Amino acid sequence: MKVFLNLNTTKKVLGQTCIAAIHSLQETLCIHEDKLAGYQTHDLHNCMDAETTSPVESNNSSIKGGSKKTHVNMNLDRTASQIITHTDNRLSDRTFAANRQLNYHYLASAAHTASLLIKKGQALIDRFHDESSDFHLAQVKTGEWWAWSYKLYEPSKKKDIKHHMTRYCRVHKMTIKTDVLDGKKFIHCSCCFRNRIGIPFSCFWKLLDVETIDQYEKLNMSMIDVRYWKLYDAFYGDDTELGKSLYMAQQQCVKSEKMGTLVSPELIEKVSSCI
Ligand SMILES: [Zn+2]
Repeated sequence: MKVFLNLNTTKKVLGQTCIAAIHSLQETLCIHEDKLAGYQTHDLHNCMDAETTSPVESNNSSIKGGSKKTHVNMNLDRTASQIITHTDNRLSDRTFAANRQLNYHYLASAAHTASLLIKKGQALIDRFHDESSDFHLAQVKTGEWWAWSYKLYEPSKKKDIKHHMTRYCRVHKMTIKTDVLDGKKFIHCSCCFRNRIGIPFSCFWKLLDVETIDQYEKLNMSMIDVRYWKLYDAFYGDDTELGKSLYMAQQQCVKSEKMGTLVSPELIEKVSSCI
């Protein structure tokens, strides 16, 4: 950029004032990179990339909206009872929806996990798997790969201002991590997407885009956070063997927090030998 701005043609076309403004903007962006590149929420477990106020907005909307909304003119007794009844109803609706989903097959996906994961989870996996074709991949040394895609950063045509804010191009640095206690292998990426969202990002799918890896090896349930499983949605908290198993599965997910995506040693071997 600096070389381009120093060219005689650039100086002639843009003028010194404009070039000075670009230099100043560059410097400001550089100084504020820690704030603008979203480092604060970079590795927050299960945050789903939510904005800071999202949980509050959600509660606000549930309490103050809909047919059972509360308002300032209500007395405390009625407000409390209204909120509790409304919360109970929403929890029941949620349980019924989760039970209905158990027998529902997500036809928009051809993945073998479509009947085991909730619609949202499968849709996210499909989306990021499709976007992996825009990624480039390089193995920099044994057990370390870099992936990048500039297509994701093309100018947006959307009118919302947040789509036009500065975005930093991040190179995804993937490494192999081993759990010292049980020896399980993980592929960790510097983007920390798996930790925040609960499913692997396009960088991971690009790494696994190898001929010798079939679809069952490429995607299995242990790679996905337990909260995307249909069984978890319907039976979590139940006082049954299944309920207890789901607690254990959740415990495993928390234990391997920040490690990355769980993979088999065979898969790592195939990936390492094919690039
Ligand atoms: Zn990544």
